[in-house]
Amino acid sequence: MKVPFGDLRRQYNANRERIDSAIGRVLEGGWFVLGREVESFEQEFAAYLGAKHAVGVASGTDAIHLALRAVGVAAGDEVITAANTCVPTASAISLAGAVPVPVDVDPVSYTADPERIKAAITSRTKAIIPVHLYGQAADMDAVLKVSRESGIPIVEDVAQGHGAIYREKKLGTIGEAGCFSFYPSKNLGAYGDGGAIVTASRELADRLRQLRNYGEARRYHHTSVGFNSRLDEIQAAILRAKLVDLDSSNARRREIAALYNREITNPIVRKPVELEYGRHNYHLYVVRCEQRDWLQQHLADLGVHTLIHYPVPIHLQEAYGWLGMKRGACPVAERCASEVLSLPIFPELTDEEALYVAASVNSFTARA
Ligand SMILES: *Cc1c(COP(=O)(O)O)cnc(C)c1O
Repeated sequence: MKVPFGDLRRQYNANRERIDSAIGRVLEGGWFVLGREVESFEQEFAAYLGAKHAVGVASGTDAIHLALRAVGVAAGDEVITAANTCVPTASAISLAGAVPVPVDVDPVSYTADPERIKAAITSRTKAIIPVHLYGQAADMDAVLKVSRESGIPIVEDVAQGHGAIYREKKLGTIGEAGCFSFYPSKNLGAYGDGGAIVTASRELADRLRQLRNYGEARRYHHTSVGFNSRLDEIQAAILRAKLVDLDSSNARRREIAALYNREITNPIVRKPVELEYGRHNYHLYVVRCEQRDWLQQHLADLGVHTLIHYPVPIHLQEAYGWLGMKRGACPVAERCASEVLSLPIFPELTDEEALYVAASVNSFTARA
C-alpha cells in the first residue's frame, strides 16, 4: 500500500460541485479583489470563531506581519516567539522590521514555555507570538499573565489552529490579534495563498484594512504607508464553501488521531499528548523517536510518506545566524528538531490507510 502525506485531489473531488460553483459565481460576477465574497467570508469566519472582526489578507505570513504593525511593532523592536515554529513566523517579524527572539518550548506541548517568554522580555519587546503548533493550543493563561504583567500585546499564530480550542475559546480570539493562514494544506485551506487576522478591536481591524490596501483610508486618500496584501474573491468564495465543513473535517482528523493513539504501540515511538486545557485539531500528528531518520526510512520503504516539522529551529537557521544564538540555546526545541516525525493525517485518509500506517510504525525496531 502507498499512503500519501496529504492528497488535496481527494478533498476537491469530494466537494467538486460546491467549489466549482463558488469559483464560477466569482468569474461571472466580474469582480476579483475586495468585494462581496471577501466581506461575507470575513463575517462568516469571525462568527465561526466568536470574534468581532476578521480581515482577509494575502497569506498567513502577511497576517502576522500586518498584525505586528497594527499593534505598534516598528523597526528595531523585539518580538518573542517559539524557537521551533515554521519559519514564516520569523519572516513576518522581520517584515515588520523587528528582531525575532526565539525562546525554548515546553517538552510536552511543544509550544513556547511561558517562563522563557517572561525571561526574554526587554525594554524593546513589543509583542509576543505564541504559536499553536500542530493544532495544539499554547498555555494561554500563563502567556496572558505575562502579557498583562508586562503590558506587551499577544499576536497569536493560528496558522495551524483553525477550529482548535483553549478553555472554551477558539484559538485566535484570546490575544489582541489572531493570525490565520489558508495555505492549501491547512485545516481550512484555499486553492492558493490566503490569510486573515481576527480581533475584538474595531480600531485594530480598521488599521489592518488600511494596511492591506496601500494605507488607503477612503478611495485615493492614503493616511499611512501600506501594502498590497488582499485575500482575493476566488479564494474567499472557496473558503466560504469549505468553512461549513471545518468542524466535521476536524472531527475526522481527531478520529484518525484516536486510531493512531490506540493502534500505535511501539515503545520506542512517543505519541503526542493532548493537553486537558484544550481541543487539538490535529493539523499534524507528530510522533517522536530517537532514531527518527531510520523510522522515516522504514516507513518510506513500506510506502508511507512522512514529513518533518521542523528539522531546523529558527535560531539555527542560516538566515538567522546574525541573532548570534548557538546550538544549545534552546535544548528542547533542538531535540525536537532531531526527533519529530509527522504521520499522514487528513480528513480523507481512510481507516484502512491509517491502520496500515500504525502497523508500519509498530514494525520498526531500533537499529544498532
Ligand atoms: C503555514 C504557517 C505560516 C505561514 O502561512 P503562509 O500562509 O504560508 O504565509 C505561519 N506560521 C505557521 C505556524 C504556519 O504553519
